[in-house]
Amino acid sequence: MPEGHTVHRLARDLGELAGVPLRASSPQGRFADGAARIDGEHLEGTDAFGKHLFLNASTGSVHVHLGMQGKWFRYADPTAPPLKQVRLRLATPVVAWDLIAPSVCELLDEDGVRRVTSALGPDPLRPDADAPAAVAALAADPRPIGAALLDQAVIAGVGNVFRNEALHAVGVNPGRPSRALTPDELTELWGVLQAMMTQAVEDGRIITVDSEDRLALPESESRHVYKQDHCRDCGAPVTVATVAGRTAYFCPVEQPD
Ligand SMILES: [Zn+2]
Repeated sequence: MPEGHTVHRLARDLGELAGVPLRASSPQGRFADGAARIDGEHLEGTDAFGKHLFLNASTGSVHVHLGMQGKWFRYADPTAPPLKQVRLRLATPVVAWDLIAPSVCELLDEDGVRRVTSALGPDPLRPDADAPAAVAALAADPRPIGAALLDQAVIAGVGNVFRNEALHAVGVNPGRPSRALTPDELTELWGVLQAMMTQAVEDGRIITVDSEDRLALPESESRHVYKQDHCRDCGAPVTVATVAGRTAYFCPVEQPD
């Protein structure tokens, strides 16, 4: 599933549609009414909050969640014929973007947008993120830290890769109760998430290991513990466990119980 960095990067890239009248359509038909409402309007801006994307037109905001399967495709030729499963095509005279298989694609008014965002915890990628609120929520959470981090109501935008890599970076075992972490550990964790996620927006993928030529690293060598046999820091065999229904990877040496 795409994590927050993917959605923030999409918000940035889809911003190229702003400023000229949009042609909006739903070749597949399932968003025909919503597309008709924004067809001919200007895109005023885009926004990302956690894994939620908002495309704001004067007649409403298109709210998109990619879920497990969703994808956007960009076409430099806006007359390129869309695939038949395209839920939403947004086109200008110079470019087209097609949305396929989202879990959510709906038109919301301002109250609707507020309902979605008010249910989310602070997003480390947003400049307005309330870091002390995130740290306080984690400090009160009785669940394992590896579970609390995946709860979008606690921190928005963290998925399984960031969860595992950030906990490794701060040397915390995913099974430790969140509320047992010290304030310093929680503050450091927030800072690591912010830095790691910001770098991933720039890179367009999640690379947590240091390398002079980071973008040349294959996916399989880009992380310290996530889907690794051995920790890329110390070489210890990585431990695999299920935490909050998702596979957790951690280094038993650097992340003791
Ligand atoms: Zn290690």
